[in-house]
Amino acid sequence: MIKTGIGFDIHPLVKGRRLILGGVHIKHPFGLAGHSDADALCHALADALLGAIADGDIGEHFPDTNPRWKNSSSLDLLKRVRARLKAAQARALHVDAILMAEAPKIAPYRQAMRRRLARALALPLAGVSIKATTMEGLGALGRGEGIAALAIATVEVAKRTTDVRRRTTEQKSKHPTPNIERPTSNGKGRMTDARRRTTGNGKKQKIIR
Ligand code: MG
Repeated sequence: MIKTGIGFDIHPLVKGRRLILGGVHIKHPFGLAGHSDADALCHALADALLGAIADGDIGEHFPDTNPRWKNSSSLDLLKRVRARLKAAQARALHVDAILMAEAPKIAPYRQAMRRRLARALALPLAGVSIKATTMEGLGALGRGEGIAALAIATVEVAKRTTDVRRRTTEQKSKHPTPNIERPTSNGKGRMTDARRRTTGNGKKQKIIR
């Protein structure tokens, strides 16, 4: 079946950083600040791909609190996301993105970005679309304080009945699910709203949802 996912990312522009977008180094007096190389385009695409298989987001899989991802290449991160798709019996068919940047001009770098991204995602060049717009001087992006990216991914997923996030038997044994009783009939043919959890001491506790 075909699924889609959406992704968005934004990073501030600062002095003393290289500007990397779509895995391409762009000549500019400022670069994007972040834990990794802060490639907002790759990050938005990664989130779009993860979204298509309902597999969380890059902040969850590659947290900025983990020194492992410090100054890491976001193109590499995108390859890791591709591996997650493969593990979920999915593959990207097409990605489309919009870069929102007052400066620099993206057009001279567009083809190089498409080639790098296509290689990282194992897609044909025709499966990677990169667009760019200025913000017409409006807001923080319009003042050139940062660069943002919006992306959408189309993904083919093998038909399956289980959620990709479904926990493995091993995970379940390590962290057992609390005993949550099913809603019961109130005797009038309607289901009650209250769901109750049995606590360790055997008392029942109301769960607020
Ligand atoms: Mg980011």
